[in-house]
Amino acid sequence: MSVHRRHHEHLFSADTLTAYRHLVNAGAQRVADRAARVTGPSTGVAPQTLAAALAAVDLDAPLHHPAAALDELDTLYLRDAVWFHHPRYLAHLNCPVVLPALLGEAVLSAVNSSLDTWDQSAGGTLIERRLIDWTAARIGLGPDADGVFTSGGTQSNLHALLLAREKATGGDPALLPRLRILASEVSHFSVARAALLMGLAGDAVVAVPTDQARRMRPAALERELERCARAGLVPMAVVGTAGTTDFGSIDPLPQLADAAARHGAWFHVDAAYGCGLLASPTRRQLLDGIERADSVTVDFHKSFFQPVSSSAVLVRDRRAMTPLVHHHDYLNPEHLSARLPNQVDKSLQTTRRFDALKLWLTLRIMGADAVGDLFDQCVDRAEQGWRLLDADPRFDVVVRPQLSTLVFRWRPAEPAPAALVDAANLHAREALAASGAALVAATVVDGRDHLKFTLLNPATTTADLAAVLDLLAGHATAYLAARQAA
Ligand SMILES: *Cc1c(COP(=O)(O)O)cnc(C)c1O
Repeated sequence: MSVHRRHHEHLFSADTLTAYRHLVNAGAQRVADRAARVTGPSTGVAPQTLAAALAAVDLDAPLHHPAAALDELDTLYLRDAVWFHHPRYLAHLNCPVVLPALLGEAVLSAVNSSLDTWDQSAGGTLIERRLIDWTAARIGLGPDADGVFTSGGTQSNLHALLLAREKATGGDPALLPRLRILASEVSHFSVARAALLMGLAGDAVVAVPTDQARRMRPAALERELERCARAGLVPMAVVGTAGTTDFGSIDPLPQLADAAARHGAWFHVDAAYGCGLLASPTRRQLLDGIERADSVTVDFHKSFFQPVSSSAVLVRDRRAMTPLVHHHDYLNPEHLSARLPNQVDKSLQTTRRFDALKLWLTLRIMGADAVGDLFDQCVDRAEQGWRLLDADPRFDVVVRPQLSTLVFRWRPAEPAPAALVDAANLHAREALAASGAALVAATVVDGRDHLKFTLLNPATTTADLAAVLDLLAGHATAYLAARQAA
């Protein structure tokens, strides 16, 4: 090897294509080998166990051989990984991924397009734009809609609310302290974080009360909007959540749209979770009213079964996106921007992955109906799970689900102090996780600790749910007995 080509065998190039194919295949083979032996969603490994193994790795002494590095990786990561495809992974909003999207992931990282400008992506930009148009059409945003792919719902919410802020202030910073965002008390925390990042007042996010089903009360929203008006405050945005993270509840979007319109507020819909309904052959109507939004957050990496990251923010009126436009001589000079589709003009990011390709191949191979049907199966399962829980004297279930989330609390046969029941619920979750048999989530409802199933795996059966409930009840019962005996 001549001196000036030193280490070039590691670069993707016309000379390394055989190695490239072998390496990517070897990676897929390792994942498949490990997945074939997975017996639970996790091994319940403790952080300190893995930390010791990690600390022993000398990062300045490379192994050189991919097989050796993969062997090492198997013990450091794959063996104890958390597997979302396992039917007893019931914890957070993570989905098993569809194979066409994994194909997209392999392609997009090898080509490594960057979607900020046309001259770094070419066809990639047009594919992303088609998918933005497709999503906007499914929402019903009208002919002037636009948007961009983002890293996730957190970024999409920040982006949408930033556009709302610019609309409300017209660029006048003096208004910032008076801006208010109205969102339900169970809206996602990224709304509050966006307010902080945008320099709004500490109390800028008004938590609007919800009803029994954890949906925003329109009358309460109206009351808060009137309170804002009386106090000389500016309702910058009303945020409707279409699928709350904790309950999967969908705010009454048409009433929220009416209220926002009456008070001149931007209407943002956070559909990070519920966006899968856009593809549902049977439940699209649950999102009725979303078409009146000024902006919408969708997380394809939740209910569209896409690998992280795949998310987008959509706007009704493309002109609303212009406050972010900056022309840089080196990147997107003004004289070219008129002719070239540069997505950087609409994004909070500069260098940006071609995540849209995963959704593209998903739609081109499976089609939207198949994706929506997979999500429908999860929603069906939640309904069946609710029936199980509702009939089970060992548990109290909080709300009948609209989407695929079940929130419940174990309760002992004999009355016990609430704090002890709290502890028993938390213990049941931890003991279950440590056993590796299943993973569930926890949350607090009305001050009391609850357990939660988030169902995004169509392969999870009602028998899985019943078995996990038995395990949880067993751990909780044993814990309470031990505490009472002590
Ligand atoms: C998950 C979620 C978010 C945040 O999305 P990320 O992709 O995790 O950044 C925002 N809103 C809701 C309702 C969510 O469920």
